[in-house]
Amino acid sequence: MEILETVEKYGTQAKCVAYLEQKRWGDTPICPYCESEKTTNRKDVLRHKCQGCNHSFSVLVGTIMEATKLPLPKWFAAMCLILNAKKGISSLQLSRDIGVNKNTGWYLQKRIRQAMDDNDSILKGIVETDESYIGGSLSNKHLDNKTQYHKSGMEHKIPVLGMLQRKGKIVVKILNKAWGKEIQPIMKQVIAKESELVTDGFGGYNDLGEHYREHVILNHSKQIRRIGEYHTNTIEGFWSLLKRAIIGQYHKITPEHLQDYINEIAFKYNHRHHENTFDILIDRCLRVNVPLTRK
Ligand SMILES: [Zn+2]
Repeated sequence: MEILETVEKYGTQAKCVAYLEQKRWGDTPICPYCESEKTTNRKDVLRHKCQGCNHSFSVLVGTIMEATKLPLPKWFAAMCLILNAKKGISSLQLSRDIGVNKNTGWYLQKRIRQAMDDNDSILKGIVETDESYIGGSLSNKHLDNKTQYHKSGMEHKIPVLGMLQRKGKIVVKILNKAWGKEIQPIMKQVIAKESELVTDGFGGYNDLGEHYREHVILNHSKQIRRIGEYHTNTIEGFWSLLKRAIIGQYHKITPEHLQDYINEIAFKYNHRHHENTFDILIDRCLRVNVPLTRK
């Protein structure tokens, strides 16, 4: 969605709340505390009062936007800007574009990236799995600048594991160390047992044939890159996309935020054929993961 369209459609708090309510509840608001459908709409404060448990609630309860002091039109504009920036937007740029201070911009970006997390997907069918390394090569012009060097924190290569369902989604996880002990439990969680796994000959994938319906191992060192429909070209394509995106952002990403950044790139990749990623992102922002208890 274009930024102008977002501003026009969701330019006021009331418009944003109406849209979120429709998405979350349809026509009947449900109390997030006791699940009662008997509620009274308090339009003046954009909240509802539950007749069952007497609590007052807004559509934001339990979502990443709960307790935000920032007007929702700014959240919506931020989501739009983040989605439209192919390689990502710096949090400083984001703050300038929506008129908030840099801490708020940073916080917004962090929360929105967390909502972009596609990592609870279960993959099946043919699943290409590959490990890669991010960062590690600093360009020479920064070598004389030690502060920058340490600040970036990415002077060491960070191992990542990517799992990609053919014609489906990719899930990418940062690793502490690229070895079977860490890789295999993650794979078993993400990739369904009935899948056909395709990997290279890396030892970290050893013995996975016992767990999966099929494990096709391509011996890249012997130049075997494809056996029939089994290859890892799709995930290798994703790695080059990710690395190209990261080059421009290199000094702005620290290892602790790398997973969030990767989530953003993976989310855009996973939903690249959808017409309205904004709608999907809004759904994600409304996802309530935490059990609700009244403080
Ligand atoms: Zn209630």
